[in-house]
Amino acid sequence: MALIVQKFGGTSVGTVDRIENVADRIGKFRNNGDDVVVVVSAMSGETNRLIELAHSIDEKPEAREYDVLLSTGEQVTIALLSMALNKRGIPARSYTGTQVHILTDSTHNKARILSIEEKKMRSDLQQGRVIVVAGFQGVDEHGNITTLGRGGSDTTAVALAAALKADECQIYTDVDGVYTTDPRVVPEARRLDKITFEEMLEMASLGSKVLQIRAVEFAGKYNVPLRVLSSFDEPYFGGEENDGSNGTLITYEEDEMEQALISGIAFNRDEAKLTILGVPDKPGVAYSILGPIGDSNVEIDMIIQNIGADGTTDFTFTVHRNDFSKAKEVLSKVAEELGAREVVGDDKIVKISLVGVGMRSHAGIASKMFKALAEETININMISTSEIKISVVVDEKYLELGVRTLHSAFGLEENA
Ligand code: ADP
Ligand code: ASP
Ligand code: MG
Repeated sequence: MALIVQKFGGTSVGTVDRIENVADRIGKFRNNGDDVVVVVSAMSGETNRLIELAHSIDEKPEAREYDVLLSTGEQVTIALLSMALNKRGIPARSYTGTQVHILTDSTHNKARILSIEEKKMRSDLQQGRVIVVAGFQGVDEHGNITTLGRGGSDTTAVALAAALKADECQIYTDVDGVYTTDPRVVPEARRLDKITFEEMLEMASLGSKVLQIRAVEFAGKYNVPLRVLSSFDEPYFGGEENDGSNGTLITYEEDEMEQALISGIAFNRDEAKLTILGVPDKPGVAYSILGPIGDSNVEIDMIIQNIGADGTTDFTFTVHRNDFSKAKEVLSKVAEELGAREVVGDDKIVKISLVGVGMRSHAGIASKMFKALAEETININMISTSEIKISVVVDEKYLELGVRTLHSAFGLEENA
């Protein structure tokens, strides 16, 4: 008998029929003798619908009220799923984030979980109930509802698994695991039986939306056994089958894995870049440009400073596409103050990244990557590297071609 936290994403609870299927699946785990804590997302499309509603009232809605609105999506699914379970004779209780006291900080729209009260859940479990918790939401110390950022139900699930010391946290979604890249872009992408925590963290941070990055961070910090599975396959009760039903295990023991050179390709469509041209090339200039951007709460990703000429230099950096106009406004003010020549921007760019811990010990990966892109006449705008990843920024029209080209150049469709 195990204690399992199971999270079902939007598509998996997207219709009443699918909710009934999820209830059947949970029933099978109960029959297997397992205790189950369930986390659900809003029905697919619902969070987007709520965001549109908010923006139809106010382009920049107040953050507190935005969270009150967005959190309603998950409240619908916990109630429907609990009804479906109870109808089957499986005792279940739904709880909002506030009710199980998922305490967060007060950063509305991207709050961080601080603690979870497990007492009530333990007592429900002892009484043989399935607990159904609303993902993506919490409550701050003042009793305000908060949300955890898009994809945040993954983080709720991992945090609950950590708090309850669950045997496994299972993330059920609409694909049967983590692939070498998004299988919707490259149909030849290969499911990974296991991926190291470090690589999963890098994939998530570079745009692979299959797991929210905070969920991966949380899992790493508390060593939560984490598995990504399909909600449409036959249930997996453990064992070694590797027939796909076992999904992808995020493993923390890197030694046990034969390390692939490249484990996957991540991409991010939410990118924009800004360039300030002709700023004085003197000490402190980076700070006077990037300081005000940071002060306006815009996160900067890649940064390039050109080698100066004629006493001036250029800076280019990338930001989230949603922050593009705000960052451009701030940068234009800075440009005036510094006497810069011009500010230019482009919000039609994407970032494509190769990820692999095996890269550490191999030279020549970057040149192979650049050659493959050059052969498809894909122009690289920016490059950034770390020990286990290489990222390039390219025009968004090259996203699919770029990802497919790299996937085949590195032979990722073949069995490692
Ligand atoms: P959910 O609603 O269940 O949380 P998401 O849409 O957030 O589902 O995440 C699942 C999606 O992630 C898949 O449908 C797939 O298109 C996408 N995805 C991106 N990168 C990968 C990858 N490397 N492996 C698997 N899926 C990926
Ligand atoms: N419903 C939220 C979203 O769409 C949270 C989640 O699904 O994880 O982002
Ligand atoms: Mg998700």
